[in-house]
This record gives sequence, C-alpha cells and structure tokens, in this order.
Amino acid sequence: MRKNIVAANWKMNLDRVQAISLVDEIISNISIKPSTQVILAPSYLYLYKVSKKCNDIENIFVAAQNCSSEDNGAFTGEVSVNMIKSCNADYVIIGHSERRDKFNESNNELEIKVKKALDTGLKVIFCCGESLEQRNQEVHFKWIENQISESLFTLSKKQIRNVVIAYEPIWAIGTGVTATAKQAQEMHFFIREILLARYDKDISDNISILYGGSCNPTNARELFSQQDIDGGLVGGASLSADNFLAITNSF
Ligand code: PEP
Repeated sequence: MRKNIVAANWKMNLDRVQAISLVDEIISNISIKPSTQVILAPSYLYLYKVSKKCNDIENIFVAAQNCSSEDNGAFTGEVSVNMIKSCNADYVIIGHSERRDKFNESNNELEIKVKKALDTGLKVIFCCGESLEQRNQEVHFKWIENQISESLFTLSKKQIRNVVIAYEPIWAIGTGVTATAKQAQEMHFFIREILLARYDKDISDNISILYGGSCNPTNARELFSQQDIDGGLVGGASLSADNFLAITNSF
C-alpha cells in the first residue's frame, strides 16, 4: 500500500524564530493517521533544529529543498547531500520548477542530484511539471515523460522505490489557480503508466505521486480523493499551521 504524504515547502520564507514557532504549532496540534506521512521542508539553516523537534513524532519527516550536484569542495554557498544527511533530514526535494527556471537546472543535473541523494540514504521528492504554454500546445504529457525519464529512469528498481514524485504544473504554483481534480488525476495516471512501462506493476502501484500547485484546505479533499493522487506538496498554504493541518487531514 502506498503512503499518503503531505509535504510543506516553506521555500525562502520565515526567519528562525518564525520557523521554530511554526513547527511548534504544527507538532503540538497534529494527529497523523498511520497511513499518512507529513514532511516539513524548511530552509537548510533550520533543518537540524526542525528535525530534532520532529524526532520523536511518528510519521513526521524533514526535507531539504535542494542539494548540490557536487560532493564537496570549492562551491561557495552550495550544500551537499552529506551535509543534509548529517542534519538528520530524511528527504530532499529535487527538481522544483523554481530551481529549473531560476537556476537553470537541467534534467541531467537533476539526475546526478537524485543519485547522490539516494546514495547518501536520503529519500527524494522529485518534482515535474509543465508550463501553461506547453499545456495549451498539448505537449504536456510528452514534457513530463521527458523530465521523468531523463532524470529517473537510469535508477534501479531498488533506488526508484525511495523516490516520491510531485506533479506540479507550473501555471498552478503560487498562482491561486489549481489544476482541476480531473486534470491532475489524468497526469498522475499517466505517470503511473510510464513507471509501469519502465519498471513493473509493483513499483508503479507503490510509488506515491503528490500534486502541487495552490493546494489549500478547500481543494485538498477533492484532489486527494482521486485514485492516483496520494497527497500534496504545499507551498503558500503550508506557512499557516491551521491551513497545513487542515490539508494533512484531507484524506
Ligand atoms: C510549491 O512551490 O511546491 C507549491 C506547490 O507552491 P504553492 O502551493 O504555493 O502553489
């Protein structure tokens, strides 16, 4: 049985006091069903502190928002997978559309990052998503297939089991425009089909696929009730404990 997952992507928001107060509010009010995992992705700076706070709570995990494709050395400002692991993080988000667009991260570079993260013992939340232009031109399925196959399909069966996929249409991220449940379900089903073609039914059935893009307490239940949608990667709404907790209770 695949896990339901709700992941909070705090992006470059919250100072240290605000981040700690948000995690405190979340962990003191959360009640997580056994079939659900909650993942918090704060800034690198607060990873260790947030992971220590979440340590004793079952089914709550911590993620970094990115990682370097290099191991160590003269890469000023970069953060390696070993550094992330040493802060007790469990996951790393790789391939967010903001990294692809604003930092020119290519499918090939993301493949390197994914492998380094998995080799270090981190799990990966791998993001993919199309622009509005690509959707209007009806090339969105092909685009998603390329993103996934170029970055993930050299992974072994054992490795791919430690990957969660987040489908995040770029036109829905931070815009207040959500994909309809039908649009999201259609793409999640397609992703499961390409996993089936590359790997096998067990893998395709058991990989969690999250939806991201203006997910909020009002639309989460309908999205999460779709057969191939196993939860959400949440940006803006995860900055409010009340909204985030409501989303974690939307299964
Ligand atoms: C995201 O950035 O991963 C995201 C889904 O953001 P938002 O929920 O704000 O659209």
